Amino acid sequence: MSTLEIDRVRKAYGQLEVLKEVSISIGTGDFLVLLGPSGCGKSTLLNMIAGLETITGGEIRIAGKTVNDLSPKDRDIAMVFQSYALYPTMTVRQNIEFGMKIRRIAQADRDKAVKTASDLLQITHLLDRKPSQLSGGQRQRVAMGRAIVREPKLFLFDEPLSNLDAKLRVDMRTEIKRLHARLGTTIVYVTHDQIEAMTLATRVAVMKDGVVQQLDEPQAVYDRPANVYVARFVGSPA
Ligand code: ADP
Ligand code: MG
Repeated sequence: MSTLEIDRVRKAYGQLEVLKEVSISIGTGDFLVLLGPSGCGKSTLLNMIAGLETITGGEIRIAGKTVNDLSPKDRDIAMVFQSYALYPTMTVRQNIEFGMKIRRIAQADRDKAVKTASDLLQITHLLDRKPSQLSGGQRQRVAMGRAIVREPKLFLFDEPLSNLDAKLRVDMRTEIKRLHARLGTTIVYVTHDQIEAMTLATRVAVMKDGVVQQLDEPQAVYDRPANVYVARFVGSPA
């Protein structure tokens, strides 16, 4: 069974069709990157998977279950945005455990989950700080910690590194890759950066104007681009 099936999904804002019959299917442990230029519909598709946008046509299934009409909290997903959206008055620990607290998970289990996630992300020494006392990279780690403790079926990332400087971007890329390997999670990751896509993905969907131009392993996309557009975008040799 696929962890995520996007089945002939369409999105229109009035007359404007931003996604045209997109079909993508990924298995457990896959790292799918949605790659394409600004405005091609990547965030719209991710938001539809998350339940933050309505679906105009087609069906989205997570672990075999149709989620079209489910609210975000019932979808077994966790989302990490580029703006970290941490609670400024809470400590790092409180930020990470907030979702578990809402779900009335016992303190001992919360402590254990926070410890595991913070060790993994190397932020254990920061647990008592407030977000304002953290660097951009540290905040991004906290945002990931908050997602990890939810143990979702599916992680959704929307350009999580685009606010970071170049050096940090490379560090965090490595970190995300390591997390994926360690946790065996299934990830959908949006970026316009082909290097990010090529290093992280097990599958890449190259998009243009709401249409998937090619869906394949990164090496195959690079070696055998489906068309000139894909070749240019991923920088294949001419
Ligand atoms: P990307 O994430 O690839 O940059 P988006 O998914 O944000 O692209 O946007 C895809 C297209 O949909 C763009 O042309 C954008 O202007 C349009 N769009 C996004 N949200 C809305 C909206 N709420 N109303 C109308 N058009 C929208
Ligand atoms: Mg976007």
